[in-house]
Amino acid sequence: MTDRVNTDLPQQLSPTDWHTLTPGQVEQMLQTGRGGLAQEEARQRLTKYGFNRLAPPKKRGPLLRFLLQFHNLLLYVMMGAAVITASLGYWIDTGVLMMAVVLNAIIGFIQEGKAESALDAIRDMLSPHATVIRDGQHHDIDAGDLVPGDMVALVSGDRVPADLRLINVRDLRIEEAALTGESLPVEKNTETAEPDTPLGDRYGMAYSGTLVIYGKAVGVVVATGAQTELGKINQMLSEIRNLATPLLRKVDYFARQLAFFILGLSALTFVLGTLWRGHSPQDMFMMVVALTASAIPEGLPAIMTVTLALGVRRMARRNAIVRLLPAVEALGSVTVICSDKTGTLTRNEMTVQRIICAEHRVNVEGVGYEPSGELCIDGRCITAAEYPELALAIRAGVLCNDARLLNEEGRWWVEGDPTEGALLVLGAKAGLTLNEPNENAWPRIDAIPFESQHRFMATYHCDSQQEPWIFVKGAPERILDMCRTQLGSNGEQELDVDYWRRMSNDMAAQGLRLLALACKRSAPKSDLLDHNDMESDFVMIALLGIMDPPREEAVQAVRECHRAGIRVKMITGDHVETARAIGEKLNIGVGKPALTGAEVAVMDDETLRNVAMEVDVFARAAPEHKLRLVQALQESGQVVAMTGDGVNDAPALKCADVGVAMGMKGTEAAKEASDMVLADDNFATIASAVREGRAVYDNLKKFILFMLPTNGGEVLVVIAAILFELTLPLTPAQVLWINMATSGTLGLALAFEPAERGIMDRRPRPPGEALLSGFFIWRVLMVSVIIMIGALGVFLWELNAGTSLEVARTMAVNIVVVCEVFYLFNSRFILKSVLSREGLTGNRYILLAVAACIPLQLAYTYLPIMQTIFNSASLSLLEWGKVLAAGLLLFLLAELEKFIVRRTGLAARLGLG
Ligand code: ATP
Repeated sequence: MTDRVNTDLPQQLSPTDWHTLTPGQVEQMLQTGRGGLAQEEARQRLTKYGFNRLAPPKKRGPLLRFLLQFHNLLLYVMMGAAVITASLGYWIDTGVLMMAVVLNAIIGFIQEGKAESALDAIRDMLSPHATVIRDGQHHDIDAGDLVPGDMVALVSGDRVPADLRLINVRDLRIEEAALTGESLPVEKNTETAEPDTPLGDRYGMAYSGTLVIYGKAVGVVVATGAQTELGKINQMLSEIRNLATPLLRKVDYFARQLAFFILGLSALTFVLGTLWRGHSPQDMFMMVVALTASAIPEGLPAIMTVTLALGVRRMARRNAIVRLLPAVEALGSVTVICSDKTGTLTRNEMTVQRIICAEHRVNVEGVGYEPSGELCIDGRCITAAEYPELALAIRAGVLCNDARLLNEEGRWWVEGDPTEGALLVLGAKAGLTLNEPNENAWPRIDAIPFESQHRFMATYHCDSQQEPWIFVKGAPERILDMCRTQLGSNGEQELDVDYWRRMSNDMAAQGLRLLALACKRSAPKSDLLDHNDMESDFVMIALLGIMDPPREEAVQAVRECHRAGIRVKMITGDHVETARAIGEKLNIGVGKPALTGAEVAVMDDETLRNVAMEVDVFARAAPEHKLRLVQALQESGQVVAMTGDGVNDAPALKCADVGVAMGMKGTEAAKEASDMVLADDNFATIASAVREGRAVYDNLKKFILFMLPTNGGEVLVVIAAILFELTLPLTPAQVLWINMATSGTLGLALAFEPAERGIMDRRPRPPGEALLSGFFIWRVLMVSVIIMIGALGVFLWELNAGTSLEVARTMAVNIVVVCEVFYLFNSRFILKSVLSREGLTGNRYILLAVAACIPLQLAYTYLPIMQTIFNSASLSLLEWGKVLAAGLLLFLLAELEKFIVRRTGLAARLGLG
């Protein structure tokens, strides 16, 4: 460890052929050592060398972003129209058209900014971490804080956080596709290489951005940020999202088709109006422009994006960080959630409760990580020293262990694997701690780390007499296979496999997690531990039963999922009986058979397809079983969310419709393969993300249901007037005004709509369901016609009664706007009634939008300048009364329609309720 602060390192580390230097030389050059840098030194180096980050890709500047808003079919049409109106000398119309164009662009610009900032906030939540050794201790830090000279520990699943010269390597395999394009993993060592060795053959180096597939290592940071090989080719890794999702693309396509349809309709109207009805081409042209402007759903794609982005932000607040936007849509239609058990459905706070030795069964008191509690046999408190095999079991658990038990301000917590933490707590309860080097220390010479595919961990030590010991801990059936004898009070005895199996089943049936401990009093065949040393001749010491209670909130979330028509399946590496017992507590797979990974492995695809839906608990499952299960479920038409944390879970996560990685215990590899990361590793978070996913989809539907009929109403008014040779109730400039005043404000408020109560009582939405169902088309037509009748009807009535054209038109404009305002409230719930406090006031953005609309309409009606521009006129109270009555009528009719649909059971048949 370097405890003094170095000031003599150069400002810029010269590009060095680090691969040609031995680890010792590298350490010397970078003035570091096996204990890493001192914190103070690291801080100084950080100011000298900067953060270990690559420059983010250049974003489009605000000006360019604003200009790009004009690249939009509708705006092209409007700008073209403005040019023509200008050439005809209609300056006011030209002015209004241009104002509408600019306003549309501004609204688009603001909306896009909102979507982007919602996503930017999330990006920061996913910054990678690294395990660094500083002051001789392991620390988990933000990878951006690494400096040259830092010692970094790598384990499987890690993304290498900076360029490292490897110092110490254990079966390390790294996939370097990010750098070399080669997807086969490379076996690493600590050897030096010739200066001109290509990157892919420098076995003693680990490069930033590459992925640890297997094993572990320690390396010294030789380059950070832009100085790394990855930085030199200036490539950002896995730049997350882009804003296009299948649904948005569909909507975009729909909007474009609608636009072309409307352009066609406008052309037809123009021809009919001039040739058949004999209107002047100038008038007809202006009318057609108004028609186009009122009908093309210019805001649709933008508002959809905002809705999606806001949904993503809401999910992030609830700890579900969406990496890929399509996941939001998929979440809304998930039918099966396959979840890990440990830490997701359970609390991952392990406590050893039972120790089974060959001749004794010991109960351990106390819960949690606080190391207080007695050891008891048949209700009598004992000390471990009285029973040598018990003492050895506890020692094995403490030695064969990578976790640390810490006490901060009176609170005990574990750094590392909670299963191992539980063994340290057990050690502390029995008075065996290794925090200080003492005669208990039994220094570790080598270790085989725990990998879930092997289900064991082994360490090699020498005791205070320099005698060799190998300890192993792991899944009982795996450990029993390695053992020849067992340890009794009088030393080694013949192994009683039946006894251990019986004890395992007993404890597992109580929902306890199992761990077996064994030892061998010899040295490995070579100097270091090897998988060959693990095959036989071990002595079984004890079996531990570890409690990991289900999370309270997971129990409720599972219940919620069941109500929502979603099946929850538990896929765990744990013992089948433990899995079944925990499943029972969570109400997963009760009364149904459970399957083991081995059983899944021998099934053909067809059989697996048949049982996959029936079985809810899969135990002793390995990542490849997860993959087959996802595929089987998908083949039988399910939309699957699958959780995972290990490097080998990546294929299953990628294959699932929604791959969910654990944010806390998950590897970088799993996170990068996932669509969504759970910041708190909690199953309940998945359920709330499903809820949000459904809400987002609902909001998109609500927005469409709001926007299409309000555009449709205006179109119908104009077309009817042309066809029936009526005086136009809305002039082109007035139509544009309505769009300007309402399109940006009202509809957007629906993007903020919270999830409806009862949203989790519905069945999942069928994937690929059309956005516009028959019911939707009916609703759009109904509302359009009512708006048309209201505006046109009142307009004609007023003209008949001798009201001036200006006043009648002002009333028509206000009727359309007021109808939109009233209908906005209807749109809050697709089928539920909004006639309640919650329904009318539950979304304050709607109230704000309406509040913004009122002064605009008053200005439109009463301000002299507006009256000059738009030919509007002041209205009397009575006239306002009629305007409001039209809006209220639409509101009541829409509620009546919902009521009938609900009552007749049509909603259920349409899959809407
Ligand atoms: P899940 O897949 O639900 O997260 P899990 O965490 O129990 O389940 P694994 O981590 O694969 O699954 O563990 C499988 C088995 O390996 C456990 O039942 C236990 O017996 C054993 N085991 C778990 N952790 C360790 C460890 N750190 N050292 C040795 N053995 C372990």
